[in-house]
Amino acid sequence: MNVADSERISALLAEKGLEATDQVEDAHVIILNGCTVREKAVHKALSTLGTLRPLKKRPDGQKPLIGMAGCVAQLEKEKLFKRAPYLDFVVGTDAIDHLPEIVHRVEHGERHVMYADFDRANDYSTDTKIFGYKAQAYVNIMKGCDKYCTYCIVPYTRGKEKSRTIDEVVEDVARLVARGVREITLLGQNVNSFGKGNPNSKLREPQELHNVIGKVGPRAGEENFPQLLRALDSDPRLAELKRIRFTSSHPLDFSDELIECYAPASQGGVAKLAGHLHLPVQSGSNAVLQKMGRHHKIESYIAQMDRLRELNPEVGLSTDLIVGFPTETEEDFQQTLRLLDRVQFDNIYAFAYSPRPGTRAAKMVDDVSNDVKNRRLNELLQYQLKIAEARYASRVGKEMEILVEGEAKNQNLAVGLKTDLRVWTGRTTCNRVVNFMSGGQRELLGKFLNVKIAGATSLSLQGELT
Ligand code: SF4
Repeated sequence: MNVADSERISALLAEKGLEATDQVEDAHVIILNGCTVREKAVHKALSTLGTLRPLKKRPDGQKPLIGMAGCVAQLEKEKLFKRAPYLDFVVGTDAIDHLPEIVHRVEHGERHVMYADFDRANDYSTDTKIFGYKAQAYVNIMKGCDKYCTYCIVPYTRGKEKSRTIDEVVEDVARLVARGVREITLLGQNVNSFGKGNPNSKLREPQELHNVIGKVGPRAGEENFPQLLRALDSDPRLAELKRIRFTSSHPLDFSDELIECYAPASQGGVAKLAGHLHLPVQSGSNAVLQKMGRHHKIESYIAQMDRLRELNPEVGLSTDLIVGFPTETEEDFQQTLRLLDRVQFDNIYAFAYSPRPGTRAAKMVDDVSNDVKNRRLNELLQYQLKIAEARYASRVGKEMEILVEGEAKNQNLAVGLKTDLRVWTGRTTCNRVVNFMSGGQRELLGKFLNVKIAGATSLSLQGELT
């Protein structure tokens, strides 16, 4: 979500006539887009803010305007001005579109400008902004979260759930496709809740905007996420759109109707839907899930994964996990390892629990020591590494289609070769990274290519162009 917001911030400032620079000393405006999902991320944002202070004392008088955006801005608000008086503005998650106006005001001498309120009165409507040429784009379809998992700060930093309409999203994507976008990632804190109470909801009375907030998922008769996928799949204006991804989801709203979208197109599935699902599970223990306020059982999660693999055996699966949540016992942790064995994820994003102030879990006794949290985290990551190695190795010898994302940062594979070969990187439909070599002169960015998989590590595949 923050990557997409940063893209929007860049595009809004470009519309204002500013150019991007990767030299912080050259910048006229510096905006930190900070995340609060873990304690470490907040510390990182605040310490980076501290490193910008000397720029305000430049002897040449070229002082940049400095702003804080994102969840850190939304949560800390005016406290940020107390902490860093040299900070010029704070822009919350719901106020990004006010940035050009905010920068204008600061340029004209205002100090400590703050926009950090949630827009509670209006429906959610926006158009996607992309910065430069892109074959891939993030498209916000809903925002906010009403789930209030006990550990999570997001409902407090992103507000209540609101959704765009199917018509608006399809038109937005049509504009992107006309600009060359071939893969989209539909974004929201909980995309499976898409449609709940949106303006096309036949069930909604005009005054009902606030009442529908808080209910789980769309009701019968309201627009829903599978309908959006099917509309994007079939609209003739989107013929050149090749892949649809989405993130993030909650198992509770991961409906049978959505699972059926993963079937082959010949059996009623959504042809453009990428063969990958990221479905956060957080723990393999029902006792811990209950404490987390997740409202789903591990057995139902496994049943969802089994049905998905039945429909698409090649589907790539990834998840989020937290270790060391209050009360997590060794047996709870072992259940999480057993879940990895059972589901065979391609990838996991695992973290040691850290309490987020203001959440319900922060009031629980944080009774798992840091040593135990770190030991469990390492064990979990090592455990998954072996699973990922085997899953990646099973791809060797196969031919796969990738969307080329650019030259790889790591060019080690090409070192020593007496040619102009460069390492490029792309991604399969099931979200696996494939590195391959090609002549440096060829412009491959944004192209769909077929590669034969020649090797594998636990992180990526090596391919050869076919
Ligand atoms: S569903 Fe996701 S974003 Fe919403 S409260 Fe739970 S963890 Fe946070």
